[in-house]
Amino acid sequence: MRDFSCLRCGEKMRFFSRERLQLGKTGWLFGDLPNLLAGALEVSLYVCPNCRKLEFYADEGEADGEELPQKTCPACGTVHDFDYPKCPNCKHDYYGK
Ligand SMILES: [Zn+2]
Ligand SMILES: [Zn+2]
Repeated sequence: MRDFSCLRCGEKMRFFSRERLQLGKTGWLFGDLPNLLAGALEVSLYVCPNCRKLEFYADEGEADGEELPQKTCPACGTVHDFDYPKCPNCKHDYYGK
């Protein structure tokens, strides 16, 4: 379990649940991310009690040695960690606000 704050509003995130994702079949959560990990992945879901933002993390152990998945900003081409809500370079907002 982790201790961290919401990327959006700074509220302390709360543990929500643990889910098992079957990668390569359910693409709804990862969107158009390439399948960097094969098979199933255990993830921990956290929710912000203030703005309801949902964050998920691959559990340590199963993904050991793996780097955090990266994604490329469609606006400026900057490659950054996939869990940024906005591009750190040009502030492109992936959540469409
Ligand atoms: Zn929040
Ligand atoms: Zn950008």
